[in-house]
Amino acid sequence: MALMNINGQPVAAASGATMEVRNPATGEVVDSVPKADAEDTRKAIAAAAAAFPAWSGMPAHKRASILNKCAAHVRDHLEEVAKLLTAEQGKPIRDSHIEVDRFAAAIEQYAGLVAGGALHGEQMSLPQYKAMGLVVRRPMGVVGAIIPWNFPLTLFSSKMAPALAVGNTVVAKPASTTPLATLRLAELMTEAGLPAGVLNVVTGPGNVVGEELIRNPVVRKIGFTGETVTGKHVMAAAADEIKRVTLELGGSDPAIICDDADVELAAKSIAIGRFFNAGQACLAVKRVYVMESVADEFIEKITGRAQRLKVGNGSDTASQMGPMHTAGGREGIEAQLKDAVDRGGKVLAGGKRPEGDGFDKGFYFEPTVVVNVPDEARVWKEETFGPLLPIMVVKDLNEALQKANSSEYGLGSSIFTRDFAKAQRAIDELDAGYTWVNSIQVAYDELPFGGAKHSGYGKEHGSEVMDYYLEEKSVILAGV
Ligand code: NDP
Repeated sequence: MALMNINGQPVAAASGATMEVRNPATGEVVDSVPKADAEDTRKAIAAAAAAFPAWSGMPAHKRASILNKCAAHVRDHLEEVAKLLTAEQGKPIRDSHIEVDRFAAAIEQYAGLVAGGALHGEQMSLPQYKAMGLVVRRPMGVVGAIIPWNFPLTLFSSKMAPALAVGNTVVAKPASTTPLATLRLAELMTEAGLPAGVLNVVTGPGNVVGEELIRNPVVRKIGFTGETVTGKHVMAAAADEIKRVTLELGGSDPAIICDDADVELAAKSIAIGRFFNAGQACLAVKRVYVMESVADEFIEKITGRAQRLKVGNGSDTASQMGPMHTAGGREGIEAQLKDAVDRGGKVLAGGKRPEGDGFDKGFYFEPTVVVNVPDEARVWKEETFGPLLPIMVVKDLNEALQKANSSEYGLGSSIFTRDFAKAQRAIDELDAGYTWVNSIQVAYDELPFGGAKHSGYGKEHGSEVMDYYLEEKSVILAGV
């Protein structure tokens, strides 16, 4: 059994309760983890609070040096952690390699920023008061990081790395279905010299462990990624303590393909954008609006790409798309597709569970392309969290922008065009936290990332994220 990491120690739940972690490709049990309760969570919070004075009081370059050792030790174990991630999450092994690498890179990024002096404040002269003003930036204390299952490691590091680098301590709660790689990473960071209590990982149900993190007054900040409905609950519950929250929530990202687009580039980018991680990405392209003159060419190219994708067990290096993560997730996609087809939609690729050896026990679903789907269908309104791509033909950019903005979500968005004026309109008018022009929808660590509307509140990534883990204080030095 994998154990929790509380105060630098491997710890079981006080009750002895455990939870099984299963492989989505085979249904087999990979391992089990402690099923913590609120009291276990309070022990982790207490450990983080006890570690805070020494960690926050350490010179930034020393914290950075410890964090860089953690990243190097993680890289030395990249293959081992990647295998664990594929076994519990289902994604292809080469994508797991990328994810572990990005985990280490995020730690290095924020270690580098704070070592380079990024934690400075501001000073201003106030001669009218015979005084000097300072704005100092201070770490908040204990941070709770609540993480989903689709990118368990990058979404862990996007909270933990900036929070620790600026001097906070962290209690992390991974999704119940993907705790294993996270626990191993915390163990590796302890081995590399991270002081006890600075990073704690507690495994257990969201409505118990997550709830304690949100409501416990010692936790000053919650970094949360997950569904919009859970995020709304987190925001409401955190209000009792006026607790700071960053919420990275669901999305229904539109892609617009203009009549002057490089159609080959659009098809290639959108195939990756939609089917990467079996479509289970917040930033996946979830709706396509293509203009009439290039619609046939685009639809033919994207259909071909969907049909050629090799679906299989993520541990097989030939697999390009693994199973979906849960049975419920697959049923959700099947229901959304049925609704689209019932309303007149035509399936051009996929549309069903693959058959044959190796597919019988996993939650596989074929990469699916559907056209002729009317506006009222669920796929245009809801988040489609799986390998299902609806395409709508539109007459011009006005119609495309209007439909793109008709969603309650506002996470990512993209446009394919050779005309800068059209790109400029998309940049100005698309109501989203990110707009890609002629590019694959991937979040860059260097730029701030976060959603508009129901897709979130606050930012991750970029140097800006550090401000979300710091409090500003104004100081007056009065003259005599
Ligand atoms: P959930 O909201 O179901 O779960 C996310 C995390 O919250 C899990 O750790 C879960 O624990 C925990 N949780 C559940 N209930 C509570 C509660 N009452 N209090 C505190 N924590 C709780 O999301 P999914 O795991 O299904 O993740 C998929 C979603 O995440 C999609 O909507 C996707 O778009 C979004 N997402 C957004 C991103 C962004 O940056 N905007 C990036 C990636 C994903 P447990 O597992 O134990 O239930």
